[in-house]
Amino acid sequence: MSQLSRRKFIATAGATTIGAIALKGCAGNPPETSEQTSSPVASPAANVGGGEGPETTTARIGYIPIFESSPLIVAQEKGFFAKYGMTGVQVLKQSSWGSARDNLVIGAEGGGIDGSQWQMPMPYLISEGIITDNKKIPMYVLMQTSTQGNGIAIANKHLGKGLHLDVSKAREYINQLKSAGTPFTAAYTFPAANQELWIRYWLAAGGINPDTDVKLITVSSAQTVANMKTGTMDGFSTGDPWPYRILADKIGFMAALTAQIWPDHPEEYFAMRADWVDKYPKATKALMKGIMEAQQWCDKPENRKELAQILSGRQFIGLAPDILTPPLDGKYTMGDGQPDINDVKKGPLFWKDAKGSVSYPYQSHDTWFLTENIRWGMLPAETDVKGWVGKVNREDLWREAAKEAGITDADVPKEKTRGVETFFDGIKFDANDPTAYLKSLKVKKVNV
Ligand code: CA
Repeated sequence: MSQLSRRKFIATAGATTIGAIALKGCAGNPPETSEQTSSPVASPAANVGGGEGPETTTARIGYIPIFESSPLIVAQEKGFFAKYGMTGVQVLKQSSWGSARDNLVIGAEGGGIDGSQWQMPMPYLISEGIITDNKKIPMYVLMQTSTQGNGIAIANKHLGKGLHLDVSKAREYINQLKSAGTPFTAAYTFPAANQELWIRYWLAAGGINPDTDVKLITVSSAQTVANMKTGTMDGFSTGDPWPYRILADKIGFMAALTAQIWPDHPEEYFAMRADWVDKYPKATKALMKGIMEAQQWCDKPENRKELAQILSGRQFIGLAPDILTPPLDGKYTMGDGQPDINDVKKGPLFWKDAKGSVSYPYQSHDTWFLTENIRWGMLPAETDVKGWVGKVNREDLWREAAKEAGITDADVPKEKTRGVETFFDGIKFDANDPTAYLKSLKVKKVNV
């Protein structure tokens, strides 16, 4: 299916190629349950942080083995779920974003999951049935797991062509590749979400139209590295720890970190099935309190060494701690003559950043992700963004959980918006006026 017709599917009927294939695949394939972690230690105390004990002590939570899942893994491994009475949580590795989605559709009762880590706006696309064969599974976005820690990797054959943060210098080169019949081909692991949105933003900011000047494709994460090695792919949008590996293994270089494109940007989220949250509101907040505690733990410099040790476990990321530590410290080798980055504030952060809370799910950020889907024709222009956000984003539950957990006022945002956001190219986004943002963009698909 061509890129264009695939997009049309996402925007209209919703049965994406990926969706259809993955859902069919489910019928014969049990969801991945092999790599579950044991319920550990800490002192189980059902009433920690006030309120009565949770309605259930079990939940099945998915994760993708990248840094963004650290708070979920740490909450399990350090006993923070158990501390809040959730003694039977299973944290389950998902082999891809598509299988996380399929397992969420199945639900825990069918052997799937109750919630997971997500790229945005996947919980919205699932709630609306857009990536689930029209089957609407209402979801709630409960918290953000992390910021930054992603980037755009380019194959070594494009060294010296100006493919850096400001990619306008490489515009002519990209056009030459297109004219030669070998268009610049870049990949991401799931369509219409963070990775595709980052690479599109970066290209468009440099005056390159991602729909007509290059070729964008969906590829599984294992394949991205293999394809870069064999030279069949020119670039991909990726998350830590892969940027480090790409340089260390001499596969390519980094054009940009997402921390450069949009400092302190929203990255991935924890969201659950709405029916589970509605049935178990106390257990939901117990999970959230455990994750909040894990996020604070992850951000403490003195814990980063142990965090790398935990993530290096074979059931998690499965790479040696010395590969995981540099990005956790904000140390990135960019390559292609660009200065190295050595700033912990440019790496993944889990609890707080320079602009406010990392954990709190700002409604203004959900609004940006949906607006960006409209920008590229992935959602219709008339989408009721405000209505969707009001329904799916449960920042109210975050506030309740934070209060029960005794989170200091300074760490609780006053408003549902983080205010006006500014990107590296000077473009501004105000969630109160997404149309003004869309109008300010030169490269886009939507007519505004
Ligand atoms: Ca990511």
